[in-house]
Amino acid sequence: MGEFDLIDTYFRWDSVSDNGRDADGVIIGVGDDAAVLQLDNKQQFVTSIDTLIAGVHFPEQTPPAAIAHKALTVNLSDLAAMGAKAKWFTLALTLPELDHAWLGDFSASLKALAKETSVALVGGDTTRGPLSISIQVMGTVENNQALLRSGANPGDQLFVSGTLGDAAVGLASIQDRDKGADTFTETDNAYCEARLNYPTARLKEAEIIKGFATACIDISDGLLQDVGHILKKAQVSAVIDPAKLPLSESMKKLAGDKAIHYALHGGDDYELLFTVPKRDCDAFIQAVSEQLSTPITLIGEIVSHIGSEHQDVGMITDPQGVSLQGNGYNHFAENNTNNRSDNSRVAGSKNQESKHDE
Ligand code: ADP
Ligand code: MG
Repeated sequence: MGEFDLIDTYFRWDSVSDNGRDADGVIIGVGDDAAVLQLDNKQQFVTSIDTLIAGVHFPEQTPPAAIAHKALTVNLSDLAAMGAKAKWFTLALTLPELDHAWLGDFSASLKALAKETSVALVGGDTTRGPLSISIQVMGTVENNQALLRSGANPGDQLFVSGTLGDAAVGLASIQDRDKGADTFTETDNAYCEARLNYPTARLKEAEIIKGFATACIDISDGLLQDVGHILKKAQVSAVIDPAKLPLSESMKKLAGDKAIHYALHGGDDYELLFTVPKRDCDAFIQAVSEQLSTPITLIGEIVSHIGSEHQDVGMITDPQGVSLQGNGYNHFAENNTNNRSDNSRVAGSKNQESKHDE
């Protein structure tokens, strides 16, 4: 099978939310030199790209269905964080070999999530080499309605969707399993590993959040690191109450006294972190309770940076004024102690952040 048959077999789909003409705004999808997509003048074009590399962004033995799901989810999550509607995506796939079982699972999982989220695969590229998956997602937002990191103001309340730290604990769990640890509970380990392998882009939640939020980001590199991006862009600081961080029962059980640490630093959760002006919080909480089943938790507040010194921008303290600052994963940091090869145990381990670039 050559490259073109491969594309036809696995990536030329032919139903709703596919790469055909019936999908929203797809004039030309897979099969020509480039895709042609329809825009209108009430909308702005929003796009983002993320690459997942085997051994860096996911353990080598990760099932192909999980890889496909995650590669699309991390991109959908970026558009959700912008308050945008994802419509189309392209896929650049580098494969070490032609493995039909692998491609079949990968393509079926990708197609299922594309269908569920109504995004069309409109093109891509297929090459041979070490396994790597790049997905570029494209979508639209009403003119000037994009949710930016820079919009946070002092007094705004800081919220987060879902639960934190599950994926980082899931990664540690997989690494423990590889080392033959025998302390697994079927449900708790499976839950956290599923949050790592099959994250959820908060698309429905973003629909509600965009009506109230002043700023938003998705948490890919850990709560503290990602809240830091909002603070820096908005030139403000934050108070976060660690006691209020939303933690799943499974994560608490597995992480023990490191639970707060995982919630503050663990990456790969793809939850939305956002700010809502105080005066709008009652209406927001009401809308959430009526329309969403995902937990939305108030974890802190945006404050003016302390003093007039530029260096004080981006301070993150607890309600007692103690600094919470730490680092999530940074690909090019000099002394990462938290990379994938650090096989620390789930319970009582040191840093176990996952790798994800910005
Ligand atoms: P070109 O020679 O113009 O680069 P290609 O031979 O790479 O075109 O691709 C042929 C068609 O198949 C194009 O429409 C391209 O977008 C699409 N395509 C290639 N690889 C993929 C893929 N992995 N997923 C979806 N579409 C793909
Ligand atoms: Mg090409």
